[in-house]
Amino acid sequence: MNESRRTDRTIDLWIGGERVAPSSGRYFVDRNPEDDSPYARVAEGSADDIDRAVQSAHAAFAAYGKTLAAEREAWLCRAAALVEQYRDEFVDILIDEVGSPFGKAQFEVNYAVSCLRAAAGVARRIAGQTMPSDMPGRFSMTVREPLGVVAGITPFNVPLLKNVKLSSSPLATGNTVVMLASEEAPMVASRLAEVYREAGVPAGAFNLVTGFGHQIGDALTTHPLVKAVMFTGSSRVGRHIGGLCGPLLRRALLELGGKSPLVVLADADLDAAVDAAAFGQFFFQGQACMASSRIYVEQSVAEEFSRRFKAKAEALGMGDLRDPDTWVGPIISERQRQRVRTHIEDARLKGATVLAGGEWIGNRCRPTILTGVDDSMTVCREETFGPVTSIYPVADLDEAIARANDTDYGLSAAIFTRDITKALLFSRRVRSGMVHINAPTIHDEPHVPFGGVGDSGFGREGTDIDVDTLTEWKWVTIQLPPA
Ligand code: NAD
Repeated sequence: MNESRRTDRTIDLWIGGERVAPSSGRYFVDRNPEDDSPYARVAEGSADDIDRAVQSAHAAFAAYGKTLAAEREAWLCRAAALVEQYRDEFVDILIDEVGSPFGKAQFEVNYAVSCLRAAAGVARRIAGQTMPSDMPGRFSMTVREPLGVVAGITPFNVPLLKNVKLSSSPLATGNTVVMLASEEAPMVASRLAEVYREAGVPAGAFNLVTGFGHQIGDALTTHPLVKAVMFTGSSRVGRHIGGLCGPLLRRALLELGGKSPLVVLADADLDAAVDAAAFGQFFFQGQACMASSRIYVEQSVAEEFSRRFKAKAEALGMGDLRDPDTWVGPIISERQRQRVRTHIEDARLKGATVLAGGEWIGNRCRPTILTGVDDSMTVCREETFGPVTSIYPVADLDEAIARANDTDYGLSAAIFTRDITKALLFSRRVRSGMVHINAPTIHDEPHVPFGGVGDSGFGREGTDIDVDTLTEWKWVTIQLPPA
């Protein structure tokens, strides 16, 4: 039977190319955030299971590290085709396991397919160099070698995108992988493991451990056989992982949270800016690292922008998640819902105005727009990770840049203006890993150097730049005999 059609929805570990029960024998319940009903039984991995998975990846590396680029290219191309083939199934998982609206789930599948294809293309481009030598008769060259076992740790919000991103580049570059999936989204990762096997990826090259990251994550990050850690998640956990990797001299790629500014100048196409603000903040109900949670609008158009943005936000669909018109779904967990409620309540109590939203329908929070927010309010500086944004009027571009930069984060930023000089000045002066002009703060493509500065992360991910992260340079010279 195709395991994807199993109905019991039990997720086991995936070690050495097969499903494996957790050594503890324990399983926990993964819940559908729409109504908190049980979605799947999930293996509760332990530090012993982490060790088993790393040993499996390490053993597999002996052969996998020597595979041909053409083989890795073929496996990843096949995996892309399979994700496309199983599109509907992945969409169903993304809807029921993490509460994705249909459009967001489709976006993730499209991204995963592109990312696997882009990674397949990288396999043949892992190139070294030849270079002049200061020694007469010395031939000098560099080659790149894979590192070995790479740990991937992923968040709940874009689980297919991130599990694919953090595994396809390591596999393309000849590394083997141990993935620690979010405890809130293990099914997506489990199904991906099966896809890799069906695509022909050798047993042991991709391993998956499920369980609670705060309990077993350190065992993975600090395992002596792990050569690099690719992490996406909150700044708090990222800082902890970076702290563990530092003394071990271990590579760590950290893609973390954000508080991304969207700037709207007086000459902007206001309808386009409103569309970008709605997409940028309410995509996946604000559970996006690049969400436009701070909107700076030039004073003379602030009222008109606010009026149109409120109308747009109030019209966003909140119906059945499978209805393509639905934009806003449930917040992932009670802990996260509490965080969203607290941010809104704190702002309200301290004098902010709730221009739109603020109420809940079950586990869904209506798209919420705040005005009159100041520095004393939590929502001003902290990542809410829900459908909540604030509008701040500003005098001019200089004030917009100063306020955009007044944050510890620096992931994405966007500006709407018809003045190319102002747009370019903004792009140069804003402290951010990514800047979009006349486009939303949310944007990602597999091959670009994606990432942020400050509390938003360390390093960049993307199929091309990953070659630097995931290979080790080796300088080789050959002394030729005298002529
Ligand atoms: P999180 O930090 O709570 O968890 C992320 C992962 O880390 C989970 O798999 C969790 O189990 C694991 N984890 C927890 N403690 C760990 C430890 N000590 N060692 C190793 N792993 C551990 O984040 P989340 O709630 O799943 O996701 C939301 C966060 O992710 C937001 O802050 C968001 O901005 C960020 N994010 C960033 C990007 C990006 O590319 N920059 C993309 C998506 C999400």
